[in-house]
Amino acid sequence: MTGTMRAMVLPEPGQPLREERWPIPTPGPGQLLLRVSACAVCRTDLHVVDGELPDAKRPLILGHEIVGTVVDAGPGAGAFPLGQRVGVPWLGWSCGECRFCLSGRENLCDRARFTGYQIDGGYAEYTVADHRYCFPLPQGYSDVEAAPLMCAGLIGFRSLRFAGDAKRLGLYGFGAAAHMLIQVARYQGREVYAFTRPGDSSGQAFARELGAAWAGGSDVLPPEALDAAILFAPVGALVPAALRAVDKSGVVVCGGIHMSDIPSFPYAWLWEERQVRSVANLTRMDAMDFLALVPRVPVRTQVQVFPLAAANEALAALRHGQVKGAAVLEVPE
Ligand SMILES: [Zn+2]
Ligand SMILES: [Zn+2]
Repeated sequence: MTGTMRAMVLPEPGQPLREERWPIPTPGPGQLLLRVSACAVCRTDLHVVDGELPDAKRPLILGHEIVGTVVDAGPGAGAFPLGQRVGVPWLGWSCGECRFCLSGRENLCDRARFTGYQIDGGYAEYTVADHRYCFPLPQGYSDVEAAPLMCAGLIGFRSLRFAGDAKRLGLYGFGAAAHMLIQVARYQGREVYAFTRPGDSSGQAFARELGAAWAGGSDVLPPEALDAAILFAPVGALVPAALRAVDKSGVVVCGGIHMSDIPSFPYAWLWEERQVRSVANLTRMDAMDFLALVPRVPVRTQVQVFPLAAANEALAALRHGQVKGAAVLEVPE
């Protein structure tokens, strides 16, 4: 396919996105060309825009929660039929050869490359993606409803794996990831304790609507000690706060890719076998397991839709905590 496409381009970190016309990319070996219909906006996009992640391609098309349909394929790009709807996540390429790849941990691949960061992403009318990182999406979800599954949902799901069989689960930061994860956690029979910015009563009400046993500010302790807590807010001070909220042997899982520095805290807060750990990226197994689980729960995504050209407005709304659920860019035909 030849011609040009509209794209929202980050020229350099620190600058606003610019609408430009770029050539429609040609799918290389193993790649699919997708007509993008929706792309969700992730907190990680803000970290890239702000230059907090060091290895961004420039100029760059952001976006790693892509929904599109297959319109062309390069050599060896698998068995996807033209017209198939797929989702594309943050991890966009892995080497298949390093010791992490060879042990099913491609999320830690030594040469991993990431969508909308080192590979041009989905804030555009077309994109190319490695067929190994294109996943068929469940029926019953519109394109804009399906987009947030591809990062907020997936990373949330991987974070939940590390919470083990925690019955009382805390979620710090009640945005795109938490609003989906609470539905999965409740389906699994867990109690969810939701922590928002102090004073964010509408965020707390949203959490209660979705079945939180308790919702409050991140500056207070929950009424019961937790078995695990997952942090989605990129605020290092929440690590010691969450350690104080979990019971003996509780785990604090950091779900974000970037966080402000963690303040020092007494060893006693970690004592009694409490743990702190991070979650990096995703594996293909996570994607397949999560996308199979989503319609069974069923996870309902709440989205705030912006046109592609309003990507800067969508990023600003996310930055200022003004999005209920997930922000999604819609890319018209
Ligand atoms: Zn590898
Ligand atoms: Zn993301």
